[in-house]
This record gives sequence, structure tokens and C-alpha cells, in this order.
Amino acid sequence: MDKIMDVGIIGGGPAGMNAALVLGRARKSVIVIDEGRPRNRVTKETHGFLTRDGVSPGEFRRVAREQIDAYPSVRFEEDTAVSVSGTDGDFLIATAQGTTYRCRKLLFAVGKRDLPLDIHGLDDVYGKSAFVCPYCDGWELRDQMLVLIAKGARAVHMAMMLSGWTDKYIICTDGPDDMTDEQREELKQHHIPLYDTRIQTIESSDGMVKRVLLEDGTQLSCAGIFFAPKLVAGSELPEAIGCKVTEAGSVVVDLFGKTNVPGIYSAGDAATEFNQAITAASMGSLAAVGINTELLTEAWNNTAS
Ligand SMILES: Cc1cc2nc3c(=O)[nH]c(=O)nc-3n(C[C@H](O)[C@H](O)[C@H](O)COP(=O)(O)OP(=O)(O)OC[C@H]3O[C@@H](n4cnc5c(N)ncnc54)[C@H](O)[C@@H]3O)c2cc1C
Repeated sequence: MDKIMDVGIIGGGPAGMNAALVLGRARKSVIVIDEGRPRNRVTKETHGFLTRDGVSPGEFRRVAREQIDAYPSVRFEEDTAVSVSGTDGDFLIATAQGTTYRCRKLLFAVGKRDLPLDIHGLDDVYGKSAFVCPYCDGWELRDQMLVLIAKGARAVHMAMMLSGWTDKYIICTDGPDDMTDEQREELKQHHIPLYDTRIQTIESSDGMVKRVLLEDGTQLSCAGIFFAPKLVAGSELPEAIGCKVTEAGSVVVDLFGKTNVPGIYSAGDAATEFNQAITAASMGSLAAVGINTELLTEAWNNTAS
């Protein structure tokens, strides 16, 4: 077992890495444990992050690691945290490779995880021409013919959002639409076609969608797809150690990422439903400030004579 570190960070995406950067600069000893499966690994480019617009997720990680490596008190381990225990001031993180780390404070930056996509052919286009967030990928598909795959109130909300990028789209609910009459009427008033037949397959070539085929033989040609993903917490560990988690799988935190469990923080997608890399990085930065303030306050109070 290693010496006790100031902070243990589980997850090395934008949230965990920005926290590590701020804590490294604050001269804290930090261990970042990351298994390297960020949610956007399926995509070629990250958009909407000032100075990083259009870089690949791999390049983003490479530059981030290079910059953090300038701060020698931060250490990275490629491993999976499998359990956490202990209390504020002395937490234990056990990993899949059999290592145990001790830390005073803990930050969960574990992201969110997509449940398997249960539409035939969607895996082939996800991240290439099928996306989940118009802020991230709407610009590249502006004014194109799109298919929106979603149900119920979420479909109506996503339809309203997509209208900012194109006025040519169709909704496929892949089975019962789960909508009220008012919701169907709302879509009708906006002239948005609604198909509730099951999707047979998505046809594509090199990741670029060509058409969506429905089970009744209908063929819907399109240049791209937006769909409502099914997301769950990136890890069960926050809930296992007592952190409050919302129905959507987000850890409940304050502005500085503090959870209901003393000494434990969370940041990034793990703690919000607004999933953007820059938001995650910003939450990581705020959590680092919260953690550093707590550590400094404790040290200050302990050294007063
Ligand atoms: C297809 C797609 C495209 C996107 N495009 C954009 C875009 O263009 N612009 C944008 O701003 N955002 C985009 N996003 C969203 C963006 O990817 C996320 O908001 C961002 O990655 C969140 O960062 P994070 O650090 O919170 O989590 P993540 O980046 O998901 O990182 C979490 C890390 O924690 C690790 N982890 C989890 N559990 C453990 C464990 N027990 N032990 C060790 N490690 C663990 C994971 O393996 C992962 O490496 C996109 C998302 C998707 C799915």
C-alpha cells in the first residue's frame, strides 16, 4: 500500500484531469485512476470547447496529460477502481490490478455510461453520423435531412432543439410513441412527420448513415441521426459509499462538487445531466478548489497553537 495521498481521483476524462491540473498546481499529491473509457471515445471530434474546437478526443487527452505531467505531485494509473472504503481523512481505493491507494479526499469523475444500443445498425454510425447532442454535433449536420429517434416528451423536446439546426427532420419512435394527444398535435403543428413503426435496421456506409428502414418497408433517407441515449452512472462506487444519486444516475453535489458524504466530491458527467466536455472540465476545476480549500482549512486549524 502506498503512502497517503491528498486526493484520489477516480476517472481521467476532462473532469478528472482538470481537477488534477488545478490540484497539482496547488501542490497537492494526487493519484488519478482511470480505465480509459470516456463516453466520447466513439467520436472523431470534440466541439464547443474554446481553443479545442474540432480536436479528437485522443488529442485532447494527449495534450491534457502532457500539461499535467509538468506537475510532479500528480500521478496517473491505468486501472479500474473496484471498491472504495474509509472515511474523511483516510479513504481506501482498491483496484482491479490489486493495488490499494490511500487518500484524504476522494473525487468521483467517473462520467456516465451508455447502455447498449438496441437498434440494429446504430452501433455502426454512432459517433460518425449519429449523435446525441446538437450542441456537440448539430453544426456539422446543419440544414441536412435528419432522423430523430426518441419517444414521448423527450422526442418533443429534442424536436424543438433540432429546429435550431435544420428544418428537415422526421421522428421515429421505434414502436409506441408514448406521447399524449397534445404532444402529437404539437408536432403536427410544426409539420414534423412521426413514424411509430419499429426500426428494422439503419443502413450505412463507412459510418455514414444512408437510410433508416422500418419494419413495414418504409425507407427514410437521411444524412444523419440524433437519438436519445440511455445513460446510467459511470460507476456504482459513489452510491456504494453512500453518495446520494438522482434517478438519472447523477451524484448530487453543490457548486464545488461536494457530496453528502464528508470528504467526497464528484464532478463532470457523473454529477450532471448536461453532458459537455467544457462543463465537465469546469466542474472538475471547481471541485479541485473545494477540495483544496477543505484540505488547507483542516491543516490551518491543526497547526494553530
Ligand atoms: C458521441 C458523443 C459525442 C460527444 N461530443 C462532444 C462534443 O463535441 N463536445 C462536448 O463538449 N462534449 C461532447 N460529448 C460529451 C463529452 O464526451 C462528455 O461530456 C465528457 O467526456 C464528460 O467528461 P467526464 O470527465 O465527466 O467523463 P468521461 O470523459 O466519460 O470520463 C470518465 C472516465 O472515468 C473512467 N472511469 C469510470 N469508472 C471508473 C472506475 N471505476 N475506475 C477507473 N476509471 C473509471 C472512464 O473509463 C472514463 O475514462 C460527446 C459525447 C458523446 C457520447
